[in-house]
Amino acid sequence: AAPPYVPALVVGTGYGAAVTALRLGAAGIKTTMIEMGQLWTTPGKDGKVFCSTLSPDRRSMWFNRKTKAPLDTFLWLDVVNRDIGTPYAGVLDRIDFPNMGVYVGRGVGGGSLVNGGMAPTPQRAYFEKMLPQVDADAMYKRYFPLARRMLGVNSIDPHYLEKTPIYKFARVSRRHAHQAGFKTTVIPNVYDFKYLQREEKKQVPRSALAGEVIYGNNHGKQSLDKTYLADALGTGNVTIRTLTRVTTIHQQGKGYLVGLEQIDAWGKVIRRSEISCGSLFLGAGSVGTTELLLRARETGTLPDLPAAIGAGWGTNGNVMTARANHLWDPTGSLQSTIPTLAIDNWNHPKYPSFAEIAPLPVGIETFASLYLAITVNPERGRFTYNHNTDRADLHWGAHQSTPSIRSAQFLFDKINKAIGTTYRRDLFTGNRAFAADFCYHPLGGALLGKATDNYGRVRNHPGLYVTDSSLIPGSLGVNPFVTITALAERNIAQVLASDLKRR
Ligand code: FAD
Repeated sequence: AAPPYVPALVVGTGYGAAVTALRLGAAGIKTTMIEMGQLWTTPGKDGKVFCSTLSPDRRSMWFNRKTKAPLDTFLWLDVVNRDIGTPYAGVLDRIDFPNMGVYVGRGVGGGSLVNGGMAPTPQRAYFEKMLPQVDADAMYKRYFPLARRMLGVNSIDPHYLEKTPIYKFARVSRRHAHQAGFKTTVIPNVYDFKYLQREEKKQVPRSALAGEVIYGNNHGKQSLDKTYLADALGTGNVTIRTLTRVTTIHQQGKGYLVGLEQIDAWGKVIRRSEISCGSLFLGAGSVGTTELLLRARETGTLPDLPAAIGAGWGTNGNVMTARANHLWDPTGSLQSTIPTLAIDNWNHPKYPSFAEIAPLPVGIETFASLYLAITVNPERGRFTYNHNTDRADLHWGAHQSTPSIRSAQFLFDKINKAIGTTYRRDLFTGNRAFAADFCYHPLGGALLGKATDNYGRVRNHPGLYVTDSSLIPGSLGVNPFVTITALAERNIAQVLASDLKRR
């Protein structure tokens, strides 16, 4: 029998995919979304959908026997990562390449399920530098405000921030930054800060105050399943297939034929099938989308895909570090997992950085100040297709992380000097003070204006679109999901108006 046909197929259910599906559905176009992860709505034996960072189980990681948290050790002890039993379709994946581990979310909602919810908008001047071909006026007047509204972005009550014990860690780091002459800023978030205040008063079940974040939040966070995807399903034109991975893409007439592999939650392949579509939107994330396109080009199913695919990948300059505070500077034993302040040294001419003040929510006093810094790192990685493994390989040399470390070190050396403190060397293997060998913000691989036109249309391939973080050239200067969302809104508006209006 001929494979089933849908007018529009969207790969993935992260930010780019969710925006695209909602706008297609709202325009009356029947759309199917394909997601390799699970729909996270069914509670486990403990009555919870997600497990916490303090007692992770099989739900935490995508097919692993042990957790792979960003911190390796604590006080040099192997107490951070835990055995989690039989490999299972858990919510957080770490894709390990030589010299670089890339964290991604798996499930309906993609990265929104596991991320810290931080929702800043990039500085306009830097956005214009990174994406000069995009009309910044339209972005800053229309699409950024739209994205923030749709995502449910809110900010902490400033009075609450000043007095609550759950942000003592943030206030301590802020004071240290100010003493060293640096500015700080409040970062908006999609976690509902009103809910958080009620958590503290024990009026509602705890999530940010129960160590929940990178393995999912059971409450409080307005992840995509509660925003864009709920609205997309509400159009009546969008359906989502879960635990199904897109494997191949072929041209078929004026549309595309897509290979699918469906698994059960323990990874057993239960069905291989095909689906054909008129328009195909790739929203599988920076690694996922780039891999699908590279495989199609290199195995000859879409041999005319542009040579630019696979190039221009970056880490958004991510680097993590921690400082050891004095014993008279405790950071608090109850910490919110949701960050809310950052040190803003972005305008430094040589060593720009935007360093989020991160919690270390382990339930005891640690006297530690933890940071995830976003820096300018001009280095770019490149993906190639590996015929033996059928996967994309990332080429990123260890030395390519050095610019990120230098910028962070400039900032934190000054803070340590002003406060008389040192780095914590017990958290990352090898007594390192800085970890720039993993990233939360993979960007690039199918760049806007290079692999695609200025609206995400893949060159020489009518009806094939890229909608996600792979469009962005390696760096944004702030956490990326608001920008990914806004860019997807802008692109699909154009595509609906000019390519799909007569379907
Ligand atoms: P994703 O959100 O990655 O979604 C891609 C989806 O496609 C996934 O669900 C994946 O399972 C699915 N998929 C992939 N391949 C296939 C395939 N072949 N077939 C079917 N499905 C497939 N950003 C911020 O702005 N603020 C933060 O605070 C923040 N914190 C973060 C913390 C962590 C731990 C992590 C991992 C990320 C964080 N990020 C943060 C980054 C942010 O989540 C990502 O930039 C964003 O999710 C990328 O969006 P996307 O649309 O490109 O794809």
